[in-house]
Amino acid sequence: MDLKKHKHGTASVWAGESQLFQEGSSTVPIVNTVTYAYNDLDEWYDVARGKKAGHIYSRNTNPTVAVLEEKIRQLEDAEAATSFSTGMAGISNTLFALLEPGDRVVSIKDSYGGTSKMLLEFLPRLNIDVELCETEDHEQLEREIAKGCTMVYLESPTNPTLKIIDLKRIASAAKKAGAIVVSDNTFGSPINQNPLALGVDLVIHSATKFLGGHSDTLCGLVCGKKELIQKIFDYREITGATLHPETAYNVIRGMKTLELRVNRQNENAMAIAKYLDEHPKVSQVYYPGLESHRGHDIAKKQMRGFGGVLSFELEGGYDHVKTLLHNLKFVHLAASLGSVSTLAGPPRTTSHVELSEEQRKELGISESLIRYSVGIENSEDLIDDLRQGLDLIE
Ligand SMILES: *Cc1c(COP(=O)(O)O)cnc(C)c1O
Repeated sequence: MDLKKHKHGTASVWAGESQLFQEGSSTVPIVNTVTYAYNDLDEWYDVARGKKAGHIYSRNTNPTVAVLEEKIRQLEDAEAATSFSTGMAGISNTLFALLEPGDRVVSIKDSYGGTSKMLLEFLPRLNIDVELCETEDHEQLEREIAKGCTMVYLESPTNPTLKIIDLKRIASAAKKAGAIVVSDNTFGSPINQNPLALGVDLVIHSATKFLGGHSDTLCGLVCGKKELIQKIFDYREITGATLHPETAYNVIRGMKTLELRVNRQNENAMAIAKYLDEHPKVSQVYYPGLESHRGHDIAKKQMRGFGGVLSFELEGGYDHVKTLLHNLKFVHLAASLGSVSTLAGPPRTTSHVELSEEQRKELGISESLIRYSVGIENSEDLIDDLRQGLDLIE
């Protein structure tokens, strides 16, 4: 069964699961094995040489993990997909697999904190030149890309102020320069946005967030052009940043409700963003669904929904952030995002903990900014909760 033509909700449930499993199991079996036994040496040899389908060793491939890879492949409509133990393993292995000394990468200043560290510290150590542009400055990105580069590394929406990049426009500039375009689609999720359809070559997910959806599992997924995925897979096979089958099962189960959850989170985030936008103690709300957001027009063009993460700035300083966050009932004060439960925190303890206060300031991340990742609770209750918390601010 080819689910390419099916909608995301159907694909989330059925992709990779259209065949019958052992004993007619109606859920994906967790194949907890390191190695795979063969009765016939010739067959073993053929599988080992890639002449016949099958598995040899679970650092390389595993049937449970393969189901998950097929799910993301279909949800992003990609040629191929591979998986990793964490999102950062996916990002670092992708960069190391595809780049060599002397290469040049053009990227943005607002990448995820861990990605920024890769770009600013680890790649330059290998004599790879990295140019970081102002995230929303499309002209600067195009100028830098036109100077020549091997890779363009993007993320949209970004963390934590939800800046939006026109992926089609930048992918087209990259194509002209002969560069590979990679985009981190963690914030969008395949429900809201499919970067491959906009001309991107590789999509990366921290499946730890929306795809897993329950804050109980770390996982990274990369999908896109077949020959690029093969290179990344060959590299990961040796670096060993492999996903465990039990973890893969958690993500598979989480993904069955992906469309339901993300649609609900889109609605909740929109309602909360509108509420906060009118509140006198809130000086600024960052949510691409608001017409006042700088990236709203581009977001409307390339996204089907605006996502479950927003951020907002309070009037006053960090004291007010503490008053509000310490008094909210329906929130975990915690890093991460995209979970069924609402998570919130200041960027200095969440997304940008790796950066100095100076670097955060440069990115326009003030001390009174709060990142709020909306769960699947009822928006009325979340808004009531925010209202009573904001009332406590003097
Ligand atoms: C969390 C996150 C990552 C890193 O993923 P891990 O699974 O924590 O390694 C990468 N990119 C974005 C946008 C993220 O939010």
